[in-house]
Amino acid sequence: MLIVKKFGGSSVANPERIFNVARRCIEDYNAGNDVVVVLSAMGDTTDDLIALAKKINPNPQKREMDMLMSTGEQISVALMSMAMNALGVRSISLNAFQVAMHTTSAYGSARLKRIDSERIRRELDDRKIVLVTGFQGVNKYDDVTTLGRGGSDTTAVAIAAALHADACEIYTDVDGVYTCDPRVVPNARKLKEITYDEMLDLATLGAGVLHNRCVELARKYGVEIVVRSSLNNSEGTIVKEVTKVERMLVSGVALDKDADRISLIGLQNQPGVAFKVFDLLAKANINIDVILQSIGRDETKDISFTLPDDRVDDAVEILNANKERLKFDKLDVEKDIVKLSIVGSGMMSNPGVAAKMFEALYNANINLNMICTSEIRVTVLIDAKDAQRAAQAVHDAFGLED
Ligand code: ADP
Ligand code: ASP
Ligand code: MG
Repeated sequence: MLIVKKFGGSSVANPERIFNVARRCIEDYNAGNDVVVVLSAMGDTTDDLIALAKKINPNPQKREMDMLMSTGEQISVALMSMAMNALGVRSISLNAFQVAMHTTSAYGSARLKRIDSERIRRELDDRKIVLVTGFQGVNKYDDVTTLGRGGSDTTAVAIAAALHADACEIYTDVDGVYTCDPRVVPNARKLKEITYDEMLDLATLGAGVLHNRCVELARKYGVEIVVRSSLNNSEGTIVKEVTKVERMLVSGVALDKDADRISLIGLQNQPGVAFKVFDLLAKANINIDVILQSIGRDETKDISFTLPDDRVDDAVEILNANKERLKFDKLDVEKDIVKLSIVGSGMMSNPGVAAKMFEALYNANINLNMICTSEIRVTVLIDAKDAQRAAQAVHDAFGLED
């Protein structure tokens, strides 16, 4: 069998954990399997590198940020190879350049386009465990790129797809995918299985356990993912096309703490205004989620929308640079908000779901700032201070607890 195993930052946070991972990989290797291991940076390394950069330059060049952040993963694979060597097993560390993991050119949010599998295959044929840096790639200028925070999951799935691996295992600090982040809702229930579609929605709406691009790729190439803990042997969650489990009305609750809101006040009440605003943001690759436009009164209207917090500065700069053309009076940024969503394919045919969520939030005396619904999700924007209470209330209302 060819097995791709990915270990997140907390799983390789210190020497003891590195040896723990090394041993788990060696077990599979000794059983006769080909083993490719994708690693994230140790512990909080990526956060620390970002903080360090901001001390040097509050507005660092995106290219140099990727150059900096990519070092974290390189530390992990080199140390892992040393650990395996100490345990008497042959291994080799490879970075994105050495493998050749080709991406688009967008620094900080690059997408994997193609992975050359030749070098990895050659090393596997030489009976080595192959250790690959997660999160990074190379663009057409031969520059280092990164795939966005949490992107090592995507590296693992892309490698599994490129090598036609028999298994793709993602090891983290929780033992599977739960009905809500167990750190927020302690009585959340572990799911045995979840479909790509449901997982994609949860991941996109803030369930950071998997990078959403990784779920998209897994669905596209039919890669079954197992999400498990690196610290115990419990079974984990399988992410796949169809599940045996009966479709639930709501499969999970997601909380996105990294969402911010921008409001443009006093736009002209004319056709084409929304187009101009969102076209500018789309051209800068900024993902917008919930949008609210006020009913135009007199000559003006307001537009509010949410976006990831790491793109707020870019968005503000672009909008302000176009203030003359867009003709707004004022731009407001609200950072103390979170997005709370319920996700489930069963919602489509059940009209009462949104009302039930609003009732739970009303009973908990939580004010809703914005609402957005689709066939398979309901999202509300609430104050950050209410996040935990709101998630618990909604989770309880749908009977998702263990
Ligand atoms: P890694 O460093 O291994 O990639 P992450 O921190 O990226 O780990 O992802 C694991 C974390 O995701 C968990 O510690 C948990 O707090 C969070 N999480 C959010 N939503 C969920 C969910 N629905 N199920 C499980 N974990 C979740
Ligand atoms: N180290 C990167 C991050 O912290 C990538 C990852 O962990 O998946 O975002
Ligand atoms: Mg992660």
